[in-house]
Amino acid sequence: MSPHITASTFYQYLACPLQLWFELHEKKKKKGKVSEIQKKLFERGRAHETALAKSLGLTAATVELEDRDEAFTRTLELMKEGKMIYQGTLLDGTWIGRPDFLVPKRGKSRLGGHHYTVMDAKLAREVTDEHRFQLAFYALLLEKIQGVRPRYAAIINVEREEIRVDINEFLDEFHLTLAEIEKILAGEKPAPFLSSSCKESPWFGACVAEALACNDLSLLHKLRRSEYEKFRNAGIRTIKNLVDADLRVLPNRLAGISLARIERLRQQATALWEDTHIVHDTPELPETKVEVYYDVESDPLASPERHYLHGALVSKKGKLDRSAYRAFLVRNPREEGRAWLRFCVFIQKLPKEAVIYHYGRYEHQVIRELTARYGAPPPALSRLAEMIDLQKVTQRSVIFPVTFYSLKDIAKYLGFRWRHKEASGLNSIQWYNNWREQAGSAGGKKMLRDILEYNEDDVRATKVLKDFLAGLKTAEV
Ligand code: SF4
Repeated sequence: MSPHITASTFYQYLACPLQLWFELHEKKKKKGKVSEIQKKLFERGRAHETALAKSLGLTAATVELEDRDEAFTRTLELMKEGKMIYQGTLLDGTWIGRPDFLVPKRGKSRLGGHHYTVMDAKLAREVTDEHRFQLAFYALLLEKIQGVRPRYAAIINVEREEIRVDINEFLDEFHLTLAEIEKILAGEKPAPFLSSSCKESPWFGACVAEALACNDLSLLHKLRRSEYEKFRNAGIRTIKNLVDADLRVLPNRLAGISLARIERLRQQATALWEDTHIVHDTPELPETKVEVYYDVESDPLASPERHYLHGALVSKKGKLDRSAYRAFLVRNPREEGRAWLRFCVFIQKLPKEAVIYHYGRYEHQVIRELTARYGAPPPALSRLAEMIDLQKVTQRSVIFPVTFYSLKDIAKYLGFRWRHKEASGLNSIQWYNNWREQAGSAGGKKMLRDILEYNEDDVRATKVLKDFLAGLKTAEV
């Protein structure tokens, strides 16, 4: 039996065509766990949308039947009566749709003197591609049922504004995408295309294992999808193909990709193939006696997002003593501002020569948010504004044999190991929320230790990377 197509099929395809293939055709035991945090984020989004839809649909007839065929029969009865319908079911062959609202409009159809269009409640402000595909899918499904395709469908956005989409303008793209989806439904497997968001995919482990097994070109860090297609069309499908390619002829087969870019990607391929790093620029890091490594942990499930731990590792003359790690922890939500200001005082009191390091853009975003919420002493802010982002330094200086340039991947290559086997930002959030519920218990103490150790290991890994980069100055350039 052919698999069903629903509005979610388009959503999954747009997120990743291979993920859709895995969902349909791969053994479920190969699927990794969806983290509790991800589940909660998803459920929270759905709950908001349902609440929004319900509040808008007070006058609509609701279809509450569980059985799909019965729900469709009931929906059709209500459609013939010309009622506005909430959560109706639309069915035609393998197509199944459950739009939030079916809205009657004037104009003949098989139903009589009226026909229907759809309206979906969304938490977004603007219409996205996912919304357009879903609305077009519903509109075509309606056409199969009522004999008339509605010209417009709409979303109700988070501000409760109706935003209309012209279905006809979108049909060519819709049919092209539908044709691709049908190939996947029939079993055709899309090529992998790894990106930084893949780590949240439940199929990440299975997918990376396959890419590694065949040395797929998608393992190249930050390879763009359009570049990937061009390389494949030019016969470069694996890391080894690229390592062996003749750079005198390759650029002629890769229109639109500059020679500098091809060379850079080839270096990346060489690093992966030989499992070694390549230094291509001298990292410039200040020499100083005091260095501080900073990392922040945040909970995106809290509203507003809570930044619950500022961790700092202080190194003096390159050494770490027993009190090197300092943690500024938010023990209850009311303390967020206090923890932030204590951290600011700590930064402010650092000796003048201290240099602060961090990895990635996130710390600056948090500093902006907390300053807007609670203020900050100007001397601390000016010290924090001068922090050195080691991610930027790394990207400029070294090509690592890794697909993702996360601190975890790079520090792991450098030999650093996190103490906790399941260390990850998402697990830390889970531990933090569990600890807040069980703070006084023995289990609570262990959770607190895990949270602090995870953050401490992050800042220690940042130091390992900085020492490595500083060492390149003399040793490898
Ligand atoms: S890991 Fe990435 S490429 Fe692979 S299936 Fe998941 S989202 Fe797609």
